[in-house]
Amino acid sequence: MKYFDYFSFDTLGETLEFLKKQKHFVKIISGGTDLIIEFRKNSPKLENIDKVLDISRLRVLKVIEEDNDYVYIGPSCTHTEIVKNDIINKYFPALVEACLSIGCLQTRNQGTIGGNIVNSSPSADTVPALVSYNAELELLKDENIERIFKVKDFIKGPYKNELAKDEMLYCIRIPKDNTEDRLHVFEKLGRRNALSITRISVCANALLEDGKIKKITIVPGAVLPRFKNMKIAEDFLTGKKPQKEVLREASELVAKEVFDEVGERWSTPYKKPVLEKMAFVALCKMFKIEII
Ligand SMILES: Cc1cc2nc3c(=O)[nH]c(=O)nc-3n(C[C@H](O)[C@H](O)[C@H](O)COP(=O)(O)OP(=O)(O)OC[C@H]3O[C@@H](n4cnc5c(N)ncnc54)[C@H](O)[C@@H]3O)c2cc1C
Repeated sequence: MKYFDYFSFDTLGETLEFLKKQKHFVKIISGGTDLIIEFRKNSPKLENIDKVLDISRLRVLKVIEEDNDYVYIGPSCTHTEIVKNDIINKYFPALVEACLSIGCLQTRNQGTIGGNIVNSSPSADTVPALVSYNAELELLKDENIERIFKVKDFIKGPYKNELAKDEMLYCIRIPKDNTEDRLHVFEKLGRRNALSITRISVCANALLEDGKIKKITIVPGAVLPRFKNMKIAEDFLTGKKPQKEVLREASELVAKEVFDEVGERWSTPYKKPVLEKMAFVALCKMFKIEII
């Protein structure tokens, strides 16, 4: 394993100042659950890195708070802290379910939401939930220079994102946007029940009005190089009553939209029907419709 110089500061200002000076040769570490594996593998991704910057001591990155419009989540909040937080449970239960599905308790106690986003794996479990809630990221270069991205635009492809070398993820903010009145679901299929990396997931939330779907978002995980809304199925469902046959048709549209984009692969005969079934199960669960 390669050795690195280790740095950690008491304040955000000192951390950003250090980051700015070092530019290409420093890697931020938060919980380390993704990064330590990369270190151990001598990953080529870390070839030019000779310093690690530990941000886990910065309290300002561990805050969860709300105002009238948004809920703000510090990137160093662990999955366990999110699962236990009352504000997140109130507005974003699908994010709670996503965090709860991650690895084992030890991984959830150590791994952070910021690390999950910045690692940008196609199977990152928090990301479909964040995209379904239209979450945004605040990136900081220094205390006055901020860039804001929607999560769906931030991740450019597998393990690729918009973060610059001298930038850090400072905050995840999610619009409240009637989420309190919505129905929510996160459904995940792993290789095994515990410690599994997601093969396929489906996250959705919906707002009903007079028994009809007023607004719905559906975001699959681990099936596309980038995370996105299933616009065709969402448009199809909007204005309709959530009945079983309608949900079945919408699930077919989800699978079609995904596989029209990724094309035919060796895994398609397995993944396509499974995604379709998972989308159906997720939608039925969300609208509390008996599946059989
Ligand atoms: C046994 C095991 C099981 C797992 N199961 C799952 C699972 O089921 N689902 C899932 O989604 N993931 C899973 N993971 C992956 C991992 O736990 C998550 O991705 C975790 O959320 C990463 O957070 P971290 O704080 O450990 O990140 P780190 O390893 O510290 O960092 C990951 C990346 O994020 C960057 N980074 C972190 N914070 C910031 C910041 N504030 N600003 C800029 N860059 C930052 C780092 O530089 C690095 O590139 C598993 C991992 C293990 C070891």
